[in-house]
Amino acid sequence: MIVDIDRLPREGFKISKNFEFFNGEIVDEDAVFLLPLHADITVRKVGEEVYLKGKIKTLLSFVCSRCLIPYELPVDSYFDLVYLPEELEMAREELGSDDLNSSFYYSRKIDLKEVVLEQLNLTFPVKPLCAEACQGICPVCGKNINSGDCSCVTNNSDSRFEKLKIFLKDKR
Ligand SMILES: [Zn+2]
Ligand SMILES: [Zn+2]
Repeated sequence: MIVDIDRLPREGFKISKNFEFFNGEIVDEDAVFLLPLHADITVRKVGEEVYLKGKIKTLLSFVCSRCLIPYELPVDSYFDLVYLPEELEMAREELGSDDLNSSFYYSRKIDLKEVVLEQLNLTFPVKPLCAEACQGICPVCGKNINSGDCSCVTNNSDSRFEKLKIFLKDKR
């Protein structure tokens, strides 16, 4: 959905719609959409500045980076952005300031789908975890330790230390 800066109504406008993305477009390729992404966005132009305010909502399935089991992660995120004309980009670089909430629009257009995709990608966890305390899988037998210790950890020495030793041995 492309917004033409020069044809924006004076009072701005509002959209409320679903967006569809291919898995290759999102940063985590193992993530799967369980619900369509819904976005509500208000677009308003003041002088040459374009204000985009809105929220995105969806439900995704991620694969836990420790135990490799999929889990659900709801996304419900707000954004408040300012887009400036590309002519100002050079000036901005010279000033050396970088305001994370402002971007630039090019060829007098803004693609709302790209804005939504960028905002969605920002909500993704760097390291997806089903739970902060997820124990992961045993590096020896591959058993999910969340459902109980495997037979590899027989003595009760610090299993994390044991795993570290195994890990270091593998590295050699
Ligand atoms: Zn996990
Ligand atoms: Zn094991």
